[in-house]
Amino acid sequence: MPITGKTRLLGVIGYPVEHSLSPVMHNAALAALKANFVYVPFAIAPGDFAPAIAGMAALGIHGFSITIPHKQAILPYLTEISPSAQAIGAVNTVWRGDSGWHGTNTDVLGFLSPLRALSRDWSGSTVLILGCGGAARAVVAACCELGCAAIQVVGRNPEKLDAFLRSWQGSALAPPMTVHPWGATRELLPQADLIVNTTPIGMHPQVDASPLTPAQMDQVSPQAIAYDLIYTPQPTQFLALAQQRGLTTLDGLEMLVQQGAAALEIWLQSPVPVAVMRQALYQQLGLEPLNSR
Ligand code: NAP
Repeated sequence: MPITGKTRLLGVIGYPVEHSLSPVMHNAALAALKANFVYVPFAIAPGDFAPAIAGMAALGIHGFSITIPHKQAILPYLTEISPSAQAIGAVNTVWRGDSGWHGTNTDVLGFLSPLRALSRDWSGSTVLILGCGGAARAVVAACCELGCAAIQVVGRNPEKLDAFLRSWQGSALAPPMTVHPWGATRELLPQADLIVNTTPIGMHPQVDASPLTPAQMDQVSPQAIAYDLIYTPQPTQFLALAQQRGLTTLDGLEMLVQQGAAALEIWLQSPVPVAVMRQALYQQLGLEPLNSR
């Protein structure tokens, strides 16, 4: 689609933002739809945040994605925040409404999509979440939506772990959550039906690292699911160990695709070509085409 006087602007704000895969994924979908939009990266330093958001309104930007470190900083600039984003305390998708900027968080939907495809009954299940940062918040909200009976969170920093627990007090989601020091992982593993790595351990270039040792993985039930939010390398060491143990494994790529597709649907108010978005990511990451996997 040629850029014309009617072309509208979408983008992603972050700092840094050069590594973002979102422009590739969204522009592939926009091209397939012949939609008169372009999606561009905006590197916005935290000190420039307020004038940048005002500038985006003045420039008539249609909507944008938000990545680290701005997912919480955007909250005071929004006139409407979806209940799920409110519960998580972070927004990853913003669009211009009549009353100003509106925001939501599509990470929950993205995280849930590959789990729902497994058609399991999650009531009564126990989830073990490794790490208590930003992505762990979306995972907690998602596990509440699944109806999990117990959500156990392990973290390496006792103060951050405590703050994480306290931040959910009074939340409408009321997660059935307990927090534990990292050293408690081994005891928690045998009861876990789903283990989610929300830490960056094992992410490129630390490809040999894993949040669980092989001996710890041996404690896990072979019926459990191992889910790594990391999408490169494929598989991560964590998922390679889980596969050796016979577990069902999920990587973070489908979450990335689905959270992006949900955002684009909001901006365009129409269905979007998810397969095109997925294929663009595979190509960008140098992974084999889906039909040969
Ligand atoms: P974050 O806010 O920085 O949280 C990372 C968490 O991991 C923190 O609790 C951190 O603890 C912990 N951690 C880091 N290194 C650790 C170590 N060596 N041992 C134990 N704990 C450690 O980051 P995030 O935004 O949540 O992202 C986390 C991961 O999820 C990244 O790999 C990111 O790429 C991935 N992610 C994927 C998607 C997707 O769509 N697939 C979406 C969001 C995020 P401290 O606070 O003590 O450092």
